[in-house]
Amino acid sequence: MKSSLGIPVIFIFLSVGLYCCQEKEGKPSAINPEILESAFAKYKEPSIDNRRFGYQHIAPLISNRNAQFETKVVGKSIEGRPIHSLSFGEGARKVLLWSQMHGNESTATMALFDLFNFLEGSGEDGFESIRQAIRENLRLRFIPMLNPDGAERFKRRNAQQIDINRDAVRQSSPEGIILKKARDEFSPDFGFNLHDQNRYYNVEGSSLPATISFLAPAYNKAREVNAVRSKAMKVIVGMNRLLQQLIPGQVGKYDDSFEPRAFGDNIQKWGTSTILIESGAYPGDPEKQFIRQLNFMILLDALYGIATENYLKYTEEQYIAIPENDSKLMDLLIRNVETVAGDNSYRTDIGIKSSERFLDSLILMKGNIVDWGDLSVYHGYKEIDASGMVLEKGKIWKEEIPMEKLTQGKAMDLLSEGYLAVATNKANQGQVHQLPIVVFTEGNEPNFTTTLDEPPLFYLTEEGERKIAIVNGQVVMLEEEDFSFWQLIR
Ligand SMILES: [Zn+2]
Repeated sequence: MKSSLGIPVIFIFLSVGLYCCQEKEGKPSAINPEILESAFAKYKEPSIDNRRFGYQHIAPLISNRNAQFETKVVGKSIEGRPIHSLSFGEGARKVLLWSQMHGNESTATMALFDLFNFLEGSGEDGFESIRQAIRENLRLRFIPMLNPDGAERFKRRNAQQIDINRDAVRQSSPEGIILKKARDEFSPDFGFNLHDQNRYYNVEGSSLPATISFLAPAYNKAREVNAVRSKAMKVIVGMNRLLQQLIPGQVGKYDDSFEPRAFGDNIQKWGTSTILIESGAYPGDPEKQFIRQLNFMILLDALYGIATENYLKYTEEQYIAIPENDSKLMDLLIRNVETVAGDNSYRTDIGIKSSERFLDSLILMKGNIVDWGDLSVYHGYKEIDASGMVLEKGKIWKEEIPMEKLTQGKAMDLLSEGYLAVATNKANQGQVHQLPIVVFTEGNEPNFTTTLDEPPLFYLTEEGERKIAIVNGQVVMLEEEDFSFWQLIR
């Protein structure tokens, strides 16, 4: 079931009670998922609707906060962009949350602005008991977008090309210095280290993506568990419990090898119970707006759990039982296709991953064949069982067709006749199109070498008939004419 945003409406099926914050035994518990979902719907920051936004976009959202927030410039990035902290609440337990130290990892930043809207919401919205528990028991400090220079380019590293998450100790970057100083001055009880991970992580032993992954980082090489780390583990158990109701089986746990240069490991070592949250992928959510909602829900639930000390009922064993992350996913996996090589043929699987290219609000995917052979241990977001099918190369239509004549019908006709690429006028180079065929200009003919590290451009045929075209890693079912993707004119 899909809402108008293409996000599954799963919450209404949850068989949970309508009363907030009470379990059947009467003990205080986590917040009901329905309540978290309605809080998100009410307080979602409307000015952010995709993953790529820079400092200019969030600056007014920081300066327009109400008097419940104390906002401060805590320093500047290499290129002089301000880095802010926002404080909320008067309680005894201190919590520091920082996001986007990697510039292209913005999912949690979006959720933090949703959370700010929630925290300063009006008392008559039905959520005041949650807000009150947080305000009275916690002192929250947020640093959203720690790496604004990276965010500007939607790149991982800062403007010095330093990975801030390897700069906790050496302190070569102003952004790393700001985070360390914020931790040392505030000395929080809890820390939330908010990141995104690539979409190829799955949950070990499963074909499901790790939509959210957690870690209570180790503070030493022996990976011991002290009271500080134990608390982080228990908070994670609470968030996992909530997520299992929303995205069953799609939560993973990172390997806890000690990384002596990273912030999470060191902040744990410095005495703050530190929780790493990594936002992965969810099928059909390329802009990660559903995962943003999940971030909002688990963060609010975790803060409430810390405010009420509800998290203390969970155990380290429950944390250890969370399955580990694996990295066995691909964008497209074609299994068992017959491949002809000279007089011989053999059966192979073909693994395809696609890189993202951003053009304003569009995301263009460029496919690449990343593996070939027996890929039976891998999984695909899309899988084709090509048993009984043969891999066939495509042809190129070299006579230029002007773009206005290259309709969808014309492109489908060419595709059905064995042409995977068509020439057009040079003036159209670099424009986008939604045709199910490669369109190129003079001198930019595509490469049809169907092999490792090459673009996926070929047909799957059955008894000599073309059934499926693979166009830059995208699947076009020739009989159904079912496709939807953007490409650039080469
Ligand atoms: Zn990261």
